[in-house]
Amino acid sequence: MEITKGIHLLDGTKGSYVYLILGEEPVLIDTSLPGRAHTILDSLEYLGLKPTDLAHIFLTHYDVDHIGNARALREASGAKLWAPREDLPYIRGEMNPPGVRRLIQMLYRVDAPQIDETYKPGQTIAGLEVIPTPGHTLGHVSFRIHDILFSGDLVRNKNGKLQPQPAMATWDRAALKRSLSEVGNYAFTWVCPAHGEPIQRGNLWETLVEC
Ligand SMILES: [Zn+2]
Repeated sequence: MEITKGIHLLDGTKGSYVYLILGEEPVLIDTSLPGRAHTILDSLEYLGLKPTDLAHIFLTHYDVDHIGNARALREASGAKLWAPREDLPYIRGEMNPPGVRRLIQMLYRVDAPQIDETYKPGQTIAGLEVIPTPGHTLGHVSFRIHDILFSGDLVRNKNGKLQPQPAMATWDRAALKRSLSEVGNYAFTWVCPAHGEPIQRGNLWETLVEC
């Protein structure tokens, strides 16, 4: 589905959406649940892209439903794989996340991808601005291009309202609160979350539903 010119939500990634940005260079944001690499590559082909056309793959954070196909997609495309520095030990499987996440990671076995680059705050890559938004995980990042915010798991669209992830899936609630208020100061009119459909911002940021 094309959200606006050059910004695509990849069909077949419902549950944990992958976005394709056809700007300066083709960029994929997140890689969805394990086992969907072929679906994602098929979507690229449908849009006229070869796997090797992909220049960058951005991971918002370490959860399995975001890094699930990172290794397969990196290998198929040769794209540069980016991740938050703070999340690296969890992406590489060197450390186990706390609480319920540990159980989820045990249910979904993910082949640890090799990370090529880590983000620097304030960096813009291929026209996408990197916005550090810690809270859901220590290193969680969001991205902005034009008037669109890709929020990863900073917020989701739950029945037409924006909402952070539940407390049990939040690393640091105080950090999350700060991130939410800081992002609120940015200019954007669309929010593209991993969970739930893209939605117009309207006054939803001012009326964020607390968990
Ligand atoms: Zn998620």
